[in-house]
Amino acid sequence: MTNKNTYKSTCCYCGVGCGTIVTVQDSGSVTVAGDPEHPVNRGMLCSKGMNLQYTVNDTSDRLLTPQMRLNRNMPLQDVSWDTALERTAKIFKTFIEKYGPDSVGFYVSGQCLTEEYYLWNKLMKGFIGSNNIDTNSRLCMSSAVVGYKMSLGEDVVPVCYDDIELSDVILVEGGNPAWCHPIIWRRVEAHKERNPDVKIIVVDPRKTQTVNSCDLHLDIFPGTDVYLNYALGRILIEKNAIDPEFIANHTDGFEIYKEKVFSWTLDEYADTCKIEVEKIELAAEWIAKSKGFLSMWTMGLNQSVIGVSKNLSLINLSLITGKIGKPGNGPFSLTGQPNAMGGREVGGLSNMLASHRSLENPVHRAEMKTFWGGGEISDRPGLTATEMFKALESGSLKAIWIICTNPAVSLPDLNMVEEGLKKAKLVVVQDISSKSDTVKFADIVLPAAAWAEKEGTMTNAERRISLLEKAIPAPGQCLPDVEIICKFADKMGFGDSFNYASTQDIYAEYATTTEGTNIDVTGVSYKSLKEKGTIQWPATKKSENKGTARIFEDNAFFTPNKKAQIKVLNEKNDSESTSEDFPLVLLTGRIRDQWHTMTKTSKVNKLNQHIGKPFVDMHLQDAANRNLKAGDIVKIKNKRGEVQVTLNISEDIKPGTCFMAMHWGKILNSTFGRANNLTNNLIDPISKEPDFKYAAVEVSRF
Ligand code: SF4
Repeated sequence: MTNKNTYKSTCCYCGVGCGTIVTVQDSGSVTVAGDPEHPVNRGMLCSKGMNLQYTVNDTSDRLLTPQMRLNRNMPLQDVSWDTALERTAKIFKTFIEKYGPDSVGFYVSGQCLTEEYYLWNKLMKGFIGSNNIDTNSRLCMSSAVVGYKMSLGEDVVPVCYDDIELSDVILVEGGNPAWCHPIIWRRVEAHKERNPDVKIIVVDPRKTQTVNSCDLHLDIFPGTDVYLNYALGRILIEKNAIDPEFIANHTDGFEIYKEKVFSWTLDEYADTCKIEVEKIELAAEWIAKSKGFLSMWTMGLNQSVIGVSKNLSLINLSLITGKIGKPGNGPFSLTGQPNAMGGREVGGLSNMLASHRSLENPVHRAEMKTFWGGGEISDRPGLTATEMFKALESGSLKAIWIICTNPAVSLPDLNMVEEGLKKAKLVVVQDISSKSDTVKFADIVLPAAAWAEKEGTMTNAERRISLLEKAIPAPGQCLPDVEIICKFADKMGFGDSFNYASTQDIYAEYATTTEGTNIDVTGVSYKSLKEKGTIQWPATKKSENKGTARIFEDNAFFTPNKKAQIKVLNEKNDSESTSEDFPLVLLTGRIRDQWHTMTKTSKVNKLNQHIGKPFVDMHLQDAANRNLKAGDIVKIKNKRGEVQVTLNISEDIKPGTCFMAMHWGKILNSTFGRANNLTNNLIDPISKEPDFKYAAVEVSRF
């Protein structure tokens, strides 16, 4: 707290992690401003951050009391916390006894605070005895996680935001940071304004707002990113723009890579990507000449059936040029959610344990068992996000507890998801908003405290840990998530291991698990965060809370032999094929002023004014072929479902493709504009991240 009414916090939307100052008024409502001292945003906030106060000042949609129903024909009724949690624990125990611990699961969120994430993991993996805890970060960053681990030996972003101002070529692939990571993009634009020679290259099938500020737009056809990166790699090798010394001393796998990228001609790559050879050559020339080469990417690479391959192919460009571990250089995955990284740190995916330990590793399992003092940690991999909902549908998963996420809008193939939720024997939904579409499937609803109503930590996209202070009390009977978890653990009979005097004790326990690991944060505490503001991991006890801005400056990677691995996987996009019936490729993504499933941002009139209803973007040539006009209500259909939305026509999208925003669900729009009715649940075989960016559809007049 900076004075009696003013609190430091971090924006709870995207992974940029902008610092905020929350001021509590005499009336009890809050105002929010950008923190001028914060190293990320330096006082700036984007449109979503500038309107954060409405999400807590307006409580009209808030869930205020626990609710329960004994069967789905009955309405939900208010009950006490004890009643709701006792019933949940009783049903969990019954299923565990009858069907085993893998019959229950937790589905959590990249918006959970680190302490919450840590406790959910501890409870499921250390005490219930299953690994069935996964997160909506599976839909977001898991391909990047695997890409980093395979190439650099650890799920680690090697760069920091200050590298933006030290770079002279920025390559953005599969992302629209001007809308989705706005404050970072403002820093990129300011850097370009000050240094007009800086080159910005954007790879995207759409002409987005990010493209508007770039020097070169590579408008590839969806799914061809790996081919483009191979083409760039080929040219860099041909032009001798690689770093042979770095390759020889600090990498493995170059010869296999070289053979792969030379297996096609540049013309073949360009034809497949549906762009001109000259554009690829120009991009390669700029990368070759650069002193600071930064690559940035988001969901266009991650949300793919070959997401890991896409990640590796981009990271390889930094490795073959030796442009990593140096100021202004390196690969930079832009995290989607505010605490996706914090969640990974504490083991928030179903194949991980705390401190980036691996579930497959018996030594790691034994370490965590000893640390937690719970039961044996199962070596069976837990269900991932989409697998959980399939398992509900098949009946192998009986009970699911959904925390801080709205899968009835955000998961792919929503008709399948709804079937799973209907067939589940128990659905518990823990949320702040009654607007969540998932609430209508719940047997038990638990009201949670929102941002500014609880304390805890988050880690942003550049490994920066910040403390979010509690500014106001939660309304009604809402409780912070950590209290809900600890109360439930007690009802399950594990209370002694979930007995914390404060939230900072939970963080301190987690920090202890990191000692000696690559993500050591034993130098971080609530006290040090209050003193320093924010700290980038790793930050050991010996680091005097200085943290680490950039990793691999010593060229010692986190692989067993300390060498980065130049890997090649499959390059062919294994998404579903287009056909005569469904000839267009549907892309999905975000718009500037809405966040995820809009339960918070749709409360703000100003944000709804940007784009107020669901839409589809289509190239004018494709529209003309179908005799469609701008403003028509059209039906978008495929074998999984259909939606009806308003048609936008332009030349800002690649012919043969169309685009829908992922935000709208049934509750927020009765015209049925859910993009995820159409997306498929194919997943990358390694990262298990869904293929949101490639669904075969047809568009016709409604
Ligand atoms: Fe919040 Fe992201 Fe906007 Fe910053 S850029 S204010 S973190 S939504």
